[in-house]
Amino acid sequence: MVAYLDHAATTPMRPEARRATLAFMSEAGFGNPSGAHSVARAARRAVEDAREVVAAALGAEPSQLVFTAGGTESDNMAVAGRSSRGPILCSGVEHDAVLESVRAAGGTTLRVSRDGQLDLDDLKAALGAEVPPSLVSVMTANNETGVVQPLDRIIGIVRRKAPSALVHTDAVQAVNWVDPASATAGADLVSISAHKFGGPQGVGALVVRNPAGLDVTVHGGGQEAGRRSGTHNVAGIAGLAAALAVVQEEREALVKRVADLRDRLADGLLTSIPGAVETGRREDKVAGICHLCIPGVESEALIFLLDQAGVCASAGSACASGATQVSHVLRAMGVPEELARGALRLSLGWTTTDGDVDAALEAVPAAVARLRSAP
Ligand code: PLP
Repeated sequence: MVAYLDHAATTPMRPEARRATLAFMSEAGFGNPSGAHSVARAARRAVEDAREVVAAALGAEPSQLVFTAGGTESDNMAVAGRSSRGPILCSGVEHDAVLESVRAAGGTTLRVSRDGQLDLDDLKAALGAEVPPSLVSVMTANNETGVVQPLDRIIGIVRRKAPSALVHTDAVQAVNWVDPASATAGADLVSISAHKFGGPQGVGALVVRNPAGLDVTVHGGGQEAGRRSGTHNVAGIAGLAAALAVVQEEREALVKRVADLRDRLADGLLTSIPGAVETGRREDKVAGICHLCIPGVESEALIFLLDQAGVCASAGSACASGATQVSHVLRAMGVPEELARGALRLSLGWTTTDGDVDAALEAVPAAVARLRSAP
């Protein structure tokens, strides 16, 4: 039995989402929603029903929701769609989907504190530049550390100092753990991705509160009111909506249950591994992420040994794991290189059990001891 503790990378599908997805992969549900016959109409109805569910959960109007091919595309659309209108700012701890888009647009990254939250003085200084930014992108919750940003305060500052700027938030890692409608209420653009909350991979959405504010960057047949062309992923969209409906209903209980498991895991590892340090303040973090830096070990070797012991873990972001470079998130937080090289992310979710936590509490200290004693 494998202890799957990599929910921040991707989550097992919820049965409700699997059923909804499969229904639109079957003979009855395969239609192209853009067509003009009964099979197409059934698919179109599924997309529009899903749009209502997802928009309501995100606190948006159905007309403000654009279905996409996932979090990366949503983030790219938000950043690239503003790049013709002025400078772009983002935090230095964004996911690469934002960070690389901002780099491609010649934008600027802002400092974060040692706790991983945006440095508000750096934000204020950047907003005071001669040319105001067109976009400020700050994630709702970080994918490596789980640290939640003070989005309300950030949006308040942007509105006061640069009223023409839009605010984008990548809420991909937040949906399981916080009510997305209230957490992202003031943002103009919001990205989500289905596979992070029990839906299928390769489908997501972008809330666009004011369509005139965003240039179109995916051109083609004019689907999604011209804002994102391409034949709809009907099965994926149905699965996304079904997963989100379950999460909305179960979030409160899920957060409580998983926070208890995470606390037991983090406290247990901090006690049993000499020198281990928790990244970020626990009270700032989403319930599902335990992130530690362990001196004297290399993440890559640790994750290899944990895999052999039947524990699925990660160094942080999918791109950083398996690579020798230190995470840009930890670097931005000023974590010393020696510690950052031993980063370990254990991420929990709706399938996580006491048994998974027990397995990690046994396997991680043993793997660390083995690596530390290696010649
Ligand atoms: N943004 C964040 C915060 C993420 O954690 C991820 C996934 O790792 C993405 C964006 C990219 O989403 P997707 O895998 O759907 O492209």
